[in-house]
Amino acid sequence: MESETSERVKPGRRFDSAFSFSFAIGMGLLLFIAGLVISLTLGEGAIGLIFGIPLLIAGLVLPLIMMRDMFTQNEVKGECPYCATQIKTSDATIRLRCHSCGKEVAVRDMKLLPVEEVTTS
Ligand SMILES: [Zn+2]
Repeated sequence: MESETSERVKPGRRFDSAFSFSFAIGMGLLLFIAGLVISLTLGEGAIGLIFGIPLLIAGLVLPLIMMRDMFTQNEVKGECPYCATQIKTSDATIRLRCHSCGKEVAVRDMKLLPVEEVTTS
């Protein structure tokens, strides 16, 4: 009704999930291939392994870390900025209605903020 049109999710806090999914896979693949190439081309000495193996490991671990970060929803706990009632939600929530005072509360940066403050800034 009132300020619903000004509601916009700020970009940059989190990648678009489809994009970051392929980005994580791509990065991992790139590192893995780079590590493979290095350890094969410089494979005679220990140098190839010293540079190659960390890259191989990074290529495997990095997508896992990025994806874990993507799928875990952080729990946001805090007080309602209007009536100080304890509210528990997840950071995937953009805004919610306080069950105690019925006012709208915005969730941003792991904090519960009054909606007016968020939309005007
Ligand atoms: Zn409240």
